[in-house]
Amino acid sequence: MTAKIAINGYGTIGKRVALAVKAQKDMKVVGVVKTRPTFEAWTAVENGFKLYTPSKSVAAMEEAGLAVAGTQEELIEEADLVVDATPGKIGDEMAALYRSLGKKAIFQGGEEHELCGTSFNAYSNYSEALGKDLVRVVSCNTTGLARTLYPLWEAGYVRGVLATMVRRAADPGDSKKGPINAIEPSLKVPSHHGPDVQTVIPGLPISTVAVKVPTTLMHLHSVAVELKKNVKPETIIDRWSPLRRIMLIDGSKGLPSTAQVMEMARDMGRPFSDLWEIAVWRDGVHVKDGVLYYFQAVHQESDVIPENVDCIRAMLQMETDPQRSIDETDRRMGVGVRRR
Ligand code: NAD
Repeated sequence: MTAKIAINGYGTIGKRVALAVKAQKDMKVVGVVKTRPTFEAWTAVENGFKLYTPSKSVAAMEEAGLAVAGTQEELIEEADLVVDATPGKIGDEMAALYRSLGKKAIFQGGEEHELCGTSFNAYSNYSEALGKDLVRVVSCNTTGLARTLYPLWEAGYVRGVLATMVRRAADPGDSKKGPINAIEPSLKVPSHHGPDVQTVIPGLPISTVAVKVPTTLMHLHSVAVELKKNVKPETIIDRWSPLRRIMLIDGSKGLPSTAQVMEMARDMGRPFSDLWEIAVWRDGVHVKDGVLYYFQAVHQESDVIPENVDCIRAMLQMETDPQRSIDETDRRMGVGVRRR
């Protein structure tokens, strides 16, 4: 079976999921939805995707010279599953549409957990999504925390976690958000990230705080883990090393900041210069007085992309074994090909 996937919303996340699905052998993109005739509508067509639009936007698209294959509803009807990559907080409206057309759908981290009742991270809870109708792939920050914390939690090392999120102010293609010359703390403690991690790692004792800074490249996390056992940094690194979605990097080898990490990603020549892996500074992993400290960088635009592909396989029960899905996704996309 080749699963037919619709991409509803072709922005930062939608265009990346579309290419990742296209790279797989067991699923294909039947079309993408754009609401306005922007440059992304043109690149969608140039990338070989059929363009669909809400019925009220058909005329505007055609006037701009774009070939419209049909309406949003027609695309959803044709698909086995919809990846919803519309902007956050219109999930209720979209979920009602998918339900009325009897379709499964994946939502993104801008929606609340309660919209779907199931949140997803491939390493920590793939099996929970098996056969489900609505599932939410957690946000970029939550994905980053889940990727590195789950292997430690599974090994029984974790007594408690305090993670500080230094968040990028906006994506590189976004000129509306800020701050551009300020550091803005989230005055709510814990920030929403801690409870969000618990939706994919139930029971993990985690608290999070967050500050927004004027950068667009990546988020940076400073994580402190109170350990149950006296574990050496090398043992922690050995838990992460086999995992392709974690990239161990060294500040001492020319990667002291997110600037060089993203320069390395650009050098790697991937689509959109993405870094799907969570970059963890090997030389920043320390254990002092029973507390593990580490730093990780999260490419917010792309770390959730492989998770969307795995979530499709789980929801359509195309693969019940998490590792086999992860292996297939990674192989087709090229995740983890460079280990440092
Ligand atoms: P975006 O604004 O880049 O793209 C959203 C797209 O949806 C746009 O192309 C927009 O035209 C389209 N759209 C708007 N209304 C629509 C509708 N009614 N029907 C169909 N399409 C519609 O947003 P994004 O950054 O890709 O975010 C999408 C989701 O992914 C959000 O939930 C967000 O929180 C989440 N997310 C974003 C990032 C990130 O860093 N950008 C990371 C992880 C998760």
